[in-house]
Amino acid sequence: SGRARMNNDVEKVLYTQDQVNQRLDELANTLTEKYQDEFPVLVSVMTGAMIFTSEMMKRLNFKLNVDYVDVSSYEESSESTGKVKLIQDLSHDIKDRPVIIMEDIIDTGHTLKYLADLFADRGAKSIEICSLLDKPDRREVDVEADYVGFKVPNEFIVGYGLDFNGLYRNLPFVGVLKRSVYE
Ligand code: 5GP
Ligand code: MG
Repeated sequence: SGRARMNNDVEKVLYTQDQVNQRLDELANTLTEKYQDEFPVLVSVMTGAMIFTSEMMKRLNFKLNVDYVDVSSYEESSESTGKVKLIQDLSHDIKDRPVIIMEDIIDTGHTLKYLADLFADRGAKSIEICSLLDKPDRREVDVEADYVGFKVPNEFIVGYGLDFNGLYRNLPFVGVLKRSVYE
């Protein structure tokens, strides 16, 4: 089947669906205690954070608005410059609102640095970052998530929203692709 073929491209599973669910319960409990009377805007970074955001939303027991942005990084001669471009902006005014940025993974940190600075410029009351995954070894700028699901090694991750060339986002676990898929 198609599902079997997609799974054949996976080298290993880092975190199963059950392990992710359990960790999301923990993160959501922490956020629920902190944001009880805050009325934040939950900002999902498309498209990678889509599954993480929706799975977390169901577990967050406080009043919130949901919004999203889409970003891409400028590439010059196939070398990432670290410059980030906003492709889709928020529809909410975040002035004086607490903001929680929902991201799939922090790698170099450029994307989240850009977004956090942008939202600070717009007068957000507070800004926190909640990321499913963190690759601390790869950081190029000084930005840390306030809430992290899992720290991952320096490997290319797919599944649970994360893609390779637009594929594998719908894998229900966090995994690593086979090398042969890249070559
Ligand atoms: P940063 O700006 O922190 O370098 O990059 C963050 C973005 O790069 C993530 O939102 C994600 O889209 C992409 N990214 C970084 N590492 C990985 C990875 O291991 N797998 C996938 N699929 N995307 C990644
Ligand atoms: Mg992303």
